[in-house]
Amino acid sequence: MSKDCKKCHLSRTRTNIVVGEGEFTAKYMIVGEAPGKVEDAQGRPFVGAAGQRLRELIKQAGFDINDFYITNACKCWPGEGNRTPTKSEIEACFPYLLHQIRQVNPEVIFTLGNVSTIALLNSRVTAGITKIHGRRYNISLPVKSVVVPLFHPSYLIRNGMALDEIFVNDLKYNIGCLER
Ligand code: URA
Repeated sequence: MSKDCKKCHLSRTRTNIVVGEGEFTAKYMIVGEAPGKVEDAQGRPFVGAAGQRLRELIKQAGFDINDFYITNACKCWPGEGNRTPTKSEIEACFPYLLHQIRQVNPEVIFTLGNVSTIALLNSRVTAGITKIHGRRYNISLPVKSVVVPLFHPSYLIRNGMALDEIFVNDLKYNIGCLER
């Protein structure tokens, strides 16, 4: 993507475009919502508090972070308060996300929370993340893959540790499915 993307007004307030991180040969992809303030400052996805939790839980599930390509539905920080990116901000970034999915060609795409899940599945999402986490949705655009929604790590933080085990199990089960 262009280093100077101006497809939406977030270009006026961001410090860095947070494109994504990981190898294009990664088997799995993680799609978050949008970078936070720390990510904006460093230009890397999931390096703040939610990122620490995400990285810990991937490890706890027995996987290596290097097996994941990590990105977001919206590549720029929405600003103070970390508000949810708007539909039009996500739409502006969508071609970049599709390009990344094509490049990585992941076996599974884990979407974190409602926003990135809806960005990829649209009207196929008929309930919130508390109902649909861990389900598998086949997609073929732009490549054949499987989307598995997971709880967003910020939501896990807000809920203490109560939902951590569910997140770990969703991850293990849906990666285990491939190895069976
Ligand atoms: N939350 C997200 O959704 N993405 C990040 O990169 C950081 C926090």
